[in-house]
Amino acid sequence: MNLTLGKFTLIVVTRCNLRCKLCCEYTPQHKPFPDMTIDECRRILAALFDSVDYVTTTHLSGGGEPFLHPQLAELIDVVFEYNDKFDKCMLFTNSAVKPSQALLDAITRHSDKTIIQLSRYGINPERELEVLTALEATGASLKVEKYYGDNQSFGGWVNFGDWQERNRSTPELADVFANCAVTRDMRGNWRTRDGKTHWCSRSQRGMELGLIPDCSADYVDLLDDTSRDEKRFKFANIAARGFLSACDHCSGNQGTDDYGLRYQAAEQL
Ligand code: SF4
Ligand code: SF4
Repeated sequence: MNLTLGKFTLIVVTRCNLRCKLCCEYTPQHKPFPDMTIDECRRILAALFDSVDYVTTTHLSGGGEPFLHPQLAELIDVVFEYNDKFDKCMLFTNSAVKPSQALLDAITRHSDKTIIQLSRYGINPERELEVLTALEATGASLKVEKYYGDNQSFGGWVNFGDWQERNRSTPELADVFANCAVTRDMRGNWRTRDGKTHWCSRSQRGMELGLIPDCSADYVDLLDDTSRDEKRFKFANIAARGFLSACDHCSGNQGTDDYGLRYQAAEQL
């Protein structure tokens, strides 16, 4: 049976030049891990495509601001060594870091399959325009999200809340999971920094930062010594289980249609 992931994210950095109060990665509150190395990227992708047949969109993202990674250009080239294994490669930026020439060249080389999402927070409008103009010249597809003033993208940000247990019942957890945008709209926002590949950011960041108990049933460790078949089974099983342990440590507001539960984006600490 074919195993395709809709999204697979490599978390290449966990540091950022901004300090957003509602950062869903909790980057301002925590010490960063070392940036992903080229070797780590190669090992994770080799293990991923040993277990998984195809990925619709491969993301290079954070944990933080990816354009801060000094070797992002090389990481993009490594991803494109698997060109026949994915439809699109997506990059993300907060539009507040000027891309290096090496990065612009790498994006240009792969522009036909690259999408860049620029979040514009209006914190430094001149820099945002400079970044946008430089990226436009690469020929990649751009997706600009406006997060300032009126009519913000998605009506603003959501708040995942604190990390305390909510003590939800099993039906309540199933309901939270099923109605979460990660499940309902994305069918999983698979992501990893160190090989442990989680369904959502809340699960991945919560466990790696020690904010919620480690639950190995909730992730696939691409770099452990379990077999290819066991990893494939686990990918399918996590999607089918109905909820994660992290769902009891989460507001469940990801993707809410209630705009009363949306907040001003990128308010700085
Ligand atoms: S730009 Fe803001 S939300 Fe994004 S990673 Fe940095 S601190 Fe977090
Ligand atoms: S932990 Fe939160 S973000 Fe993750 S699937 Fe559960 S409700 Fe959604």
